Amino acid sequence: MNPFQFTRVTTPKAAISAVTKEKGTYFLAGGTNLIDLMKREVVIPERLVDINKLPLATIEKTVTGLRIGATAKNSAVADNELVKKYFPLLSQALNAGASAQLRNMATVGGNMMQRTRCAYFYDNSMPCNKRSPVQTGGAAGSTERFRADKGQANGPTGCGAIGGFNRMHAIFGASEKCIAVHPSDMCIALVALDATVNVSGPKGDRKIPFGEFHRLPGDKPQQDNTLQPGELIMSVDLPTNRFSDNSHYLKVRDRASYAFALVSVGVALDMKGNTIRDVRLAMGGVAHKPWRLTKAEDFLRGKPATEANFKQAAALAMQGAKGYGENDFKLTLAPNSIIDALKTATKTA
Ligand SMILES: Cc1cc2nc3c(=O)[nH]c(=O)nc-3n(C[C@H](O)[C@H](O)[C@H](O)COP(=O)(O)OP(=O)(O)OC[C@H]3O[C@@H](n4cnc5c(N)ncnc54)[C@H](O)[C@@H]3O)c2cc1C
Repeated sequence: MNPFQFTRVTTPKAAISAVTKEKGTYFLAGGTNLIDLMKREVVIPERLVDINKLPLATIEKTVTGLRIGATAKNSAVADNELVKKYFPLLSQALNAGASAQLRNMATVGGNMMQRTRCAYFYDNSMPCNKRSPVQTGGAAGSTERFRADKGQANGPTGCGAIGGFNRMHAIFGASEKCIAVHPSDMCIALVALDATVNVSGPKGDRKIPFGEFHRLPGDKPQQDNTLQPGELIMSVDLPTNRFSDNSHYLKVRDRASYAFALVSVGVALDMKGNTIRDVRLAMGGVAHKPWRLTKAEDFLRGKPATEANFKQAAALAMQGAKGYGENDFKLTLAPNSIIDALKTATKTA
């Protein structure tokens, strides 16, 4: 690991100022992803700014719902009584992620910002456009700065996963530059629950709808999200809903714990008898961003909870899906998972 400077701050203003002032400076939260990336020299910071002492770890009721601070630990959010009662989908998704030890360290902001688990991204000897973008100069619009900032290549460019080992990879929204997936479980629940991200930066404060926070790879796979340089995630807002009785997070993975999703499905419904009054559906493990299934939602709204309707919704959700060889099984696994998750959430299984 390369040597780096370390600063601890106690105010958001100081954190933003430190990261804006000096190139190659990163916020450090739980460190469970960033430190791994540093050890492998995928990311080589000049300075880390520890944000764990910022007053951003609270979980509190608001007029419109719930506000969760960016440095709240994943375990604290999952175990919070308000989250368990009113947003059980979020609690379930968080508990499906990583291990108890990791959840005790990982934060909400860090979870949103975690990088893909594509093996080519983590291996400097392999081609990867996300790690080594074609144009040098760092990732515009990202707080991540790569060795490219220093004018050095950080391994070969290209996409090793296309035509290579791609069992974990995307079936939606990929590009010829990158077929990696976003790895978070928590974010699948947050996109389904229509969360809003509150950020603060050198140009002031702004709100980002959760569905617009992460992005598809396109021509800039190095850019995971729409955060601007120097911006700090402050909190996430969840609007009140009527989904608490009928929510389910289904995660299909290689091991029962401590494994990333091959496919996951987050479902939240508002039911009146057997009729679906309202529904939110999102998938993980299938795209470069948390993948919301709006066509399937539109189809299901107002319909009875039947297997035939679930099958039709799943078929709509799969429109445009494309496999890359090793991950072709997801074309079957994903719709089956949608149907399964809907049955469980509507208690019709
Ligand atoms: C073995 C293993 C298994 C795992 N399994 C899963 C899993 O099954 N499901 C899952 O979802 N996750 C899993 N994870 C990932 C884990 O959830 C993430 O590593 C964790 O959530 C990152 O949070 P952190 O606070 O440690 O972030 P850090 O590592 O501290 O930071 C990650 C990135 O976020 C940036 N950052 C942090 N906070 C902010 C902020 N407030 N504003 C702006 N930028 C910020 C940092 O600068 C850095 O670039 C696993 C991790 C490991 C190591």
